Amino acid sequence: MKFLCIECDEQMIFEQRQLPGDGTLAAAFRCPRCERVVAMLTNPMETQLVSSLGIKIGGREVPEQPLELVRSEVVGGRDDAFADADPPLPPQAPGTVVWSLAAVERLEGVPRFVRGMVKRIYADYAKENGIAEITPEIMDRARSELGLEGM
Ligand SMILES: [Zn+2]
Repeated sequence: MKFLCIECDEQMIFEQRQLPGDGTLAAAFRCPRCERVVAMLTNPMETQLVSSLGIKIGGREVPEQPLELVRSEVVGGRDDAFADADPPLPPQAPGTVVWSLAAVERLEGVPRFVRGMVKRIYADYAKENGIAEITPEIMDRARSELGLEGM
């Protein structure tokens, strides 16, 4: 990570760094030409992120910390930030709607916090229409018939 002084087009020099115990990181960089100083403040999560990317600040790495949470959020976005893990699928009961593999895969693309709701909507649609197996085609039909474009 580097800072450039836009005015001077000069790489700023790391000047000082503080790492208070709460995980907050403060780092200051100074332009060698115009003496402009910028400071970077990060909260504990951002500090972990910087650390997880292996970025060295001031020649020393931020102490290692558990990074699972940060990594998964960076990679997968925050779609499931407010949801628990998927509930286990109930055993297949007679008369229950079956999901084709392609339909399940497509459902995986739905943000997890609305996935259960979306799944129920499709399942209800299938039951009401006497459809035994939900396929991507059925999902398309349900979406246009129920006005759920974008789900
Ligand atoms: Zn400058």
